[in-house]
Amino acid sequence: RNTLKIGMIPADGIGREVLPAAQRTLEALGSSIPKPEFIPLLAGWDLFQKTGTALPEETIRTLKEECDGAMFGAVSSPSHKVAGYSSPIVALRKHMDLYANIRPVASVPGQDGKQINMVIVRENTECLYVKQEEVTTLPDGTKKAIAIRQITERASSRIGRMAFELALKRGQEREINPSASFWKGPPKVTIIHKSNVLSATDGLFRETVRSVKESDEARYSSILLEEQIVDSMVYRLFREPEIFDVTVAPNLYGDIISDGAAALVGSLGLVPSLNAGDSFAMGEPVHGSAPDIEGQGIANPIATIRSTALLLSHLGHTEQAARINQAVNSVLLEGRFLTPDLGGKSKTDEVIDAILKKL
Ligand code: NAD
Ligand code: MN
Repeated sequence: RNTLKIGMIPADGIGREVLPAAQRTLEALGSSIPKPEFIPLLAGWDLFQKTGTALPEETIRTLKEECDGAMFGAVSSPSHKVAGYSSPIVALRKHMDLYANIRPVASVPGQDGKQINMVIVRENTECLYVKQEEVTTLPDGTKKAIAIRQITERASSRIGRMAFELALKRGQEREINPSASFWKGPPKVTIIHKSNVLSATDGLFRETVRSVKESDEARYSSILLEEQIVDSMVYRLFREPEIFDVTVAPNLYGDIISDGAAALVGSLGLVPSLNAGDSFAMGEPVHGSAPDIEGQGIANPIATIRSTALLLSHLGHTEQAARINQAVNSVLLEGRFLTPDLGGKSKTDEVIDAILKKL
């Protein structure tokens, strides 16, 4: 193929302000990658308010039939129930079977502060995100709400495999460049769970991920498999983040841990993610639509630029992805062009300009 067709879904709020960074970054790589072609696609809360649909069929069809990959901005989901509305990002992950949410969290080598270089592998299709909730009224007139939390062997096993494969890949990278991460031991996967309390659901997650390694010991024998209860994991994450390599977690824990880990590297605006399945992938900054800073042109574009690198790497262009990450790191280290979330005064576009100059 000599083109790269990328579906672009800015959606809401600062999603619209940061997604152009993805396009500009890919364009700046010139002939070192196949010529990128961008297909703008609709989704989001604003769209829902205008048209009554948050995720048009046409968006899904175009992604499935025409695109090599996609980039997503952010959605604004209301925190109360709205009839007919359901988060398009949660729906997209399901429709496209993007079962893994890969979230690397890394501090910049050479910079002061916490030493962290880990990947959170978040299950992306089930857990509480099946969104089967119900409120009933009890005989005494008070209300009771319940939610179904689904964990399946199938989803746990494929997310486990994804985590082990990533750990092997990071292990290889460490051999070439030992300073690539703070964890210096063998490839390590930590299973996050709460099976002391939730023995059926989290118990199944934990057992299934363990059995993926046991069933393929030839491939995974070099991996150190550990596990940690989610609350004590958070404690250790905040105290000694350098001990983590790859962590694998059910959907909700993975969501929460990644925002927490983002605080350790200075800003949510720095943390990228890749929604990955077996046949499609979509880059997406971890942050939301940030209504508190919307419209000011000061959203940090780095999470989006790093997500673009994740997508490129997934599509096989690892060298170009590494170049992007180096450019980002050197702008962060210099500290001349930083958005306000990092204590700077720069605008979104100035940060993008500075990064592309390094490229
Ligand atoms: P948020 O991630 O939007 O913002 C949290 C805080 O981080 C805010 O103070 C914000 O200003 C800051 N921040 C986030 N991204 C930033 C960036 N790139 N640059 C600088 N600062 C940044 O979370 P929230 O405020 O809890 O949620 C806002 C909306 O986003 C809600 O409607 C929520 O449902 C939605 N949301 C969407 C996604 C998604 O699209 N995947 C994820 C999380 C939240
Ligand atoms: Mn989140």
